[in-house]
Amino acid sequence: MSGIQGATVRSIRSYKSSEQYLYAMKEDLAEWLKELYSLDIDVGSFLEVLETGSVLCFHANNVTRVAREFHQDYPGLAHKLQLPRSEVTCNESAQPGTFQARDNVSNFIQWCRKEMDIKEVLMFETEDLVLRKNEKNFVLCLLEVARRASRFGMSAPTLIQMEEEIEEEIREEMDLPPENTPLPKPQRKPCDFKNLDQMVRELECRCTCPVQFSMIKVSEGKYRVGDSNTLIFVRILRNHVMVRVGGGWDTLEHYLDKHDPCRCTSLCKSPHVDDLIFFFSSEPACLPPGLVSPPPSPPPPTAQLRDSSTPPEAHSSHHQTGK
Ligand SMILES: [Zn+2]
Repeated sequence: MSGIQGATVRSIRSYKSSEQYLYAMKEDLAEWLKELYSLDIDVGSFLEVLETGSVLCFHANNVTRVAREFHQDYPGLAHKLQLPRSEVTCNESAQPGTFQARDNVSNFIQWCRKEMDIKEVLMFETEDLVLRKNEKNFVLCLLEVARRASRFGMSAPTLIQMEEEIEEEIREEMDLPPENTPLPKPQRKPCDFKNLDQMVRELECRCTCPVQFSMIKVSEGKYRVGDSNTLIFVRILRNHVMVRVGGGWDTLEHYLDKHDPCRCTSLCKSPHVDDLIFFFSSEPACLPPGLVSPPPSPPPPTAQLRDSSTPPEAHSSHHQTGK
């Protein structure tokens, strides 16, 4: 295979892999909503089920109800969080693509902004969902709503539960006290770390560099990657291997497409493929930059990626202002 052909194949594969994290997130959100509201929804019908805005408004009102209960049960903790108070009006019979559907979606968006205090960088616009203009913005916003609502007792998608586990692990390592929350956490099926390590090894050995791009296991689900000594947290989400980057998630495959020299050559030449933002406003306040990139090493690719692709306002919103 000539160099040019090789680069093209890599480019196509990388482009596909850049869509995977979105698929994994949609799958997770769909399963969560299905369980929560007994909906007939899966990753394939995700947007169709949500595009009329009815489910979104129903969800907003349910989150507001859970917040109200939290406020009654834990008044001392409630004042530390931004709790939604107002409900949204909803036209339940709205049909896709109609004015009523837009109205519902718009009401949900207003509720996210005003009641949930979601940062602009994580918001979506009505057209993003109704006209499918930007699926990613919509998905990231829904995840952020779930992330925030989880703090006051709303059941959370698996991805958010895994974030909380990782944050807890980091706190323990840094000898910080556990997060002060009285809320019972749902029992998650323990991560299959043996299987995870196998999946990591399979992705690792696709490397064709003269010196293999290394992924050294530090502990279960935690790896030191490449020359930069960057530490990453890895988890299995259904059949995807996910890696926690910045305050968000990527698939490990796409992560390696961006960081392993033999896989990233074609990507580096086409920045449009690489303009994804995996950044969330709720990066745990306890996660110091040093943990992701240990001090003596140069800034890891993750940090560079984040710096170059994150709008300026996202940098100032690392901390959980709602706390
Ligand atoms: Zn390589």
